[in-house]
Formats: sequence, C-alpha cells, structure tokens
Amino acid sequence: MRSPENQAQHLIARQAAFQRALSAWYREHHRPLPWRTNPSLYRTVVSEFMLQQTQVQTALPYFERWMNALPDFAALAAASEARVLKLWEGLGYYSRARNLHRLAQALSALAAPPTTPEGWQDFPGVGPYTAAAITSLAFNARAACVDGNVVRVLARLNADSTAFRNSAAAARHFAPLADALLSPAEPGTHNQAMMELGALVCRRHDPACATCPVRRFCAATRRKAPEDYPLLARKKIGRHAVTRAWCENQGRLLLHRAASGARRLAELHELPLPSDLGLNDATVRAGRLLTRQKRGITNHQITESIHAVRLTASQCRRLTANAALRWIPWSGLDVIALSGPHRRWVEEIRQSRPSSDRVVSAVE
Ligand code: SF4
Repeated sequence: MRSPENQAQHLIARQAAFQRALSAWYREHHRPLPWRTNPSLYRTVVSEFMLQQTQVQTALPYFERWMNALPDFAALAAASEARVLKLWEGLGYYSRARNLHRLAQALSALAAPPTTPEGWQDFPGVGPYTAAAITSLAFNARAACVDGNVVRVLARLNADSTAFRNSAAAARHFAPLADALLSPAEPGTHNQAMMELGALVCRRHDPACATCPVRRFCAATRRKAPEDYPLLARKKIGRHAVTRAWCENQGRLLLHRAASGARRLAELHELPLPSDLGLNDATVRAGRLLTRQKRGITNHQITESIHAVRLTASQCRRLTANAALRWIPWSGLDVIALSGPHRRWVEEIRQSRPSSDRVVSAVE
C-alpha cells in the first residue's frame, strides 16, 4: 500500500493517461448547462458568482432570468443596485450580487479584461478558486480550480487521510497536486471535468466507483473505503431564536429595509425585529404567533417566530418617521427586494389567514 505522497507521485507520473480518461468521460457525460453550451466571459463570471454558495439546479432559473434582464457587462454596470438585488432575490448571500455589480463597473472602465488569475483577484468577491475558474475557462489560463468536489476526488485518488480544519485548508493542501494534474492543452475543460466528476460520480455519499472513469488510478476504491476521505472537521452549528413582528395597517405591511452598507442584507427588506420598532422581545411575543420557521445561514440555524403586533395610531405615525421602516402595500411586494425566506413566509401567512383576520393594527 503506497503512502499518500507516493500515490500522488504515482498519479502524476501517469497524468497523461489520467487526463485522457477524465476528458473522454467529460465529453460524453457532462451536463449541458447554459454557461457551457453558449459560453462567454460574462456568462462564465455570472455563473461562477451564482455557484459560489448555490447548487446548480437552484441557480439555473436565476441564471436565465439574469441573462434576459442584464445580458452583458455594460447592462449590469449601468443597472441600479436595487434592480441587481431584485434579480438576485431568493439566491441569498447578497454580497455576491453587490460584488458582481461592482466588478462589472470596474471592468467597464478597463480597455480589456485581465487574463490572469492574479489580475482577477483584484476584483471584489473574486478569490483564488473563482479567479482560476474564470481565467481557465475564458482564457485557457493554466490555473487549477480546487473546490469541494475537487478536494473530494483528489483525497480519494490518493487515499489521503490528512485531517483538515476546514475546506479552505483542504483546498490549500491539494492545490499542488491539482496543478500537477492540470491538462496544459485544455485547462478549462480539465477543471470542469474534475468538478463534474466530483458532482456526478465521486459523490460525497455513495460514490459510483463501479462506473468511475478514473477508477484504475484510485487508492480509496482499492481500499474499499472511498467515503472515508476527505477527513474534514464537522462544522459547529450555532442555533439562534429570533422574534419578528407582523404589523398591518390599511392594506399595507410594515417591513424593515437594511442599510445600504449592511454586510449581509444591504437594502433588502425583511419583517422587522422588535428592536426595529423600539419594542422588547416579550412585547412582540405577547402577540399571536402566526408561524415559526427555520432558516440556515452558513453555520447558523435560526428559528424565526413571527407574531402579529397591534400598533396604535400614534405608534404607526412614529414608525413612519423611521426611514428604515416602510409600509408596503400588498401590490408593492412584487416590486421590492425581499429576502427569500421572508417572501415565502409573508405569502404563506397571507394565504393561510381569513380576510376578516387581516387588519391587525388598532387605533387609539
Ligand atoms: S473510484 Fe470511486 S472514490 Fe475513486 S475517484 Fe472514482 S468515484 Fe471517487
């Protein structure tokens, strides 16, 4: 049995055969995704930003809608931030949309786009992985992509049982091997093939080793233990409870818009927190519970309880003076950018309540 280091050297020595097997499989089996079938620099950049935190199937309808609305860098650069966020609504991690918008504006000021990974890493939201993906796909740059799928494939090929603190540490560990295996003739296709192999064949659970095109190079399958690799520390999940207020007045719903500089939800609307209304949690929780829902944000699981709050007329007037709080008529909900979970919950609450139950605010 070879050590992971010896196995890596053995694999590198057979890299031409490895690349041929991988490439032949990819040409026949890759998914015909829209950014692959009709590629351009712009479509590659948009798809890479969308896929940073989102599964392919989820991103697909957003990608099509985005391309119809903002078909090139010039259109994106000229769009308002509100329009960009509205198009991104439901994908989450909104800093990606703002970074993509700023990237388009910065790129529009250049005579030509950079063609190296280093040049792309100067743009907002572009780290080593995204820079390698964009430049290898669009400019054939010799830069290996190491995402979670590639880490899994390489760890298994080598039966590498190194324990990693997190996925970034694992990506750094495997970067030299990924570089060494990169096809010099077709770096972009090779990168896509490695990621596609991880997504479709070398899956986290139940990898399809019997039909894997690189099975003969793989140490983990010889040990009959592919799922033992890679060894990543489990993420600690933080659990939090949040109270939200549901305030209606004359056919309008009160929403809170995050400040434009807010890190996570800039300019997005959500149902207000008690503190947004100058109330304490207990006061809001005394109102009728309309729904209790869960949402996940990175390593946090948040349970949000939404309570109907009866506001007096003077409270309504006072809140109207707060620019971050906005009374949105039901017909205006489609126009504003609302966080994905809150749009779903607002619709569910509206659908589930009889019309006689819909006026919540009271007068003095
Ligand atoms: S043989 Fe199995 S474990 Fe090895 S790369 Fe292929 S799918 Fe992954």
